[in-house]
Amino acid sequence: MNHKTEKLQPGLYFVATPIGTARDITLRALDVLASADVIAAEDTRSMRRLLEIHGVPLGDRPLLSYHDHSGAGARDKLMTFLAEGRSVAYASEAGTPLIADPGYHLSRAAAEAGHGVTSAPGPCAIITALTLAGLPTDAFFFAGFLPNTSKARCTALAALSDVPGTLVFYESPKRVADMLKDAAATLGGTREAAIGRELTKKFEEVLRGTLDELSQGAAERRFKGEIVVLIDRARGETDNADDIETALKEALKTMSLRDASEVVAQAYGAHKRKIYQLALKLKQD
Ligand code: SAM
Repeated sequence: MNHKTEKLQPGLYFVATPIGTARDITLRALDVLASADVIAAEDTRSMRRLLEIHGVPLGDRPLLSYHDHSGAGARDKLMTFLAEGRSVAYASEAGTPLIADPGYHLSRAAAEAGHGVTSAPGPCAIITALTLAGLPTDAFFFAGFLPNTSKARCTALAALSDVPGTLVFYESPKRVADMLKDAAATLGGTREAAIGRELTKKFEEVLRGTLDELSQGAAERRFKGEIVVLIDRARGETDNADDIETALKEALKTMSLRDASEVVAQAYGAHKRKIYQLALKLKQD
């Protein structure tokens, strides 16, 4: 048995569930699922399966279906349980609730009514993809799913072109080739990017390259499974090329190749790998 059962404080518990590998669930998530008076789920079938995999008995506890669009009725039911002083666990189909998933309206309603709202955190495709993409993580912007039509998608991408952080998108495997093509056209094909596919699953794959490279690759294959696309922020290297070279030459007089590249890349908001290659060339010359 991987969980312990104990009386939970009344309130709403958002429970993160795996995005692939079932064993990625946390021990606390299992404790909450084993102990909550009521379980609510975006998909009750997936929840039953999850409980079964981990040997958590549902017993005679209610298991309710809830998503933000299931209407006020379902939410009212959960709010009544909370008002009665019960503990309610809520999980979406996979990953962290509220992240491109239901839970937002429930969270607001519970907090506004003065109930305790807490989280048993865990897997999330955004964070898993950022961990693997090899793009800067100091700042990032999650833009969810882009619109389906090319025109609306390009408009949405253009609005994100100056975001000073890594852009993160959820994307369908059917649309990823079109999305990358539009991203290359709108944001420039030289931006560094990455595709995270089937993360934490058997066929996990991470592809890294410029938007042009990834777009070309995507046009030549058919993707399957779940996908996150990440795109680096705009880099002003071409405008600053002369300044960067001068700064690098200056820095190389007193610093190691690695330190000089790092300092200059940071000062100019440029890509570290590219600056390192330039520094290498300058040193060889
Ligand atoms: N709440 C979830 C989370 O915390 O990541 C996201 C739910 S959203 C409806 C589903 C989308 O997340 C998928 O279409 C895909 O873009 C992304 N996703 C979920 N699991 C993934 C995985 N294992 N690998 C890659 N992307 C994944």
